[in-house]
Amino acid sequence: MKEAIERTFRELAAFNSPSKNEVRVASYLQEQLTTMGLEVKVDDFGNVIGYLSGRGESILLNAHMDGVPPAKGHIPVKEGDVLRSDGSTNLRADDIAGITIILEATITIIEGKKKHPPLVLAFTAQEEIGLWGAKALDVTEYDVNQGIVFDNAFGAGTVVSKGACYVAFDVEIKGKETHPGKDLSQGVNAVKVLLDTGIQVGEADKGQTRVNIGTVSAGKARNVVPGNATIQGEIRSFLTGDKLSGRLSEVEMAFKNAASRNGAQVEFTQKQLAFAYKVDEDEPLVQKYKEVVGARGGEFEMAETFVASDANALREKGLKVFVISTGVESEHSVNETVKLSDMEQLTSDLVALLELLPQ
Ligand SMILES: [Zn+2]
Repeated sequence: MKEAIERTFRELAAFNSPSKNEVRVASYLQEQLTTMGLEVKVDDFGNVIGYLSGRGESILLNAHMDGVPPAKGHIPVKEGDVLRSDGSTNLRADDIAGITIILEATITIIEGKKKHPPLVLAFTAQEEIGLWGAKALDVTEYDVNQGIVFDNAFGAGTVVSKGACYVAFDVEIKGKETHPGKDLSQGVNAVKVLLDTGIQVGEADKGQTRVNIGTVSAGKARNVVPGNATIQGEIRSFLTGDKLSGRLSEVEMAFKNAASRNGAQVEFTQKQLAFAYKVDEDEPLVQKYKEVVGARGGEFEMAETFVASDANALREKGLKVFVISTGVESEHSVNETVKLSDMEQLTSDLVALLELLPQ
């Protein structure tokens, strides 16, 4: 199985696949799934959906096709059990590892004539830039209510117990430019407004929230009091309902109040791109996975994450999915790695899980 896993991984790594340009991975998957005998369709968004009939309750298996830039096609370098890139691009094991596990488990089931429930394989586009593929995904025709997302979060096999929400915010501070050596009352310093917000970046709400200001651009030159500032920020949080709205409006008000104290104008926009979710350890599919891990003497683990995944969008749709971590490390960088043995373990666990489900 290890050889097949490595081969599939390498075939997928050969394609460029940045967000919004997943077409080469999509056509590869379309071809593979058709050859395997699945019913295949590509929706208007570019998501690839494969269906394999079976007995019992349907299971959704998901991984995403896009990677963060550069996401260039390459030949992975192998060092013992570890795959890495040659350093010119990211390995894109996020989320090729997920795709490989799903493909190889499905092939194992078909070739081994193993029993299995109906399977809905959903390979999504544009996960990395806002979970757009998962948001557009429509699986109502398959009558599926539960499933598994394979993506990186923690050590291989760890189940994500809680996923934080993700809110992006953009701020335009409009003050008035002036000469820093002349009458300062003639200007309104946009950077002073930003500092005056008193916003605490980093952890908040006793570890429940993280606030980040990712980019700040302001000013024209060293010797000009900056009249304008543009800020891109984000809030990740496990808070929900009124507590979340309270936290979000606190950030907004900090900018608005600082602007008015300093005589500046501010445009503030906020967009919630992902909703928080919680996975109950008692959910039947989680229980079955726990059983599979326990049966081979492994340790079942759950952990909460601030990193968004397709699970945020799919749970929002009412699908009871949970994330099984692929064990990818240093994702989103050229140092990204994945272990072949982890992918092998996860593939055989998935096969065992599908066989174990009531049918
Ligand atoms: Zn990912």
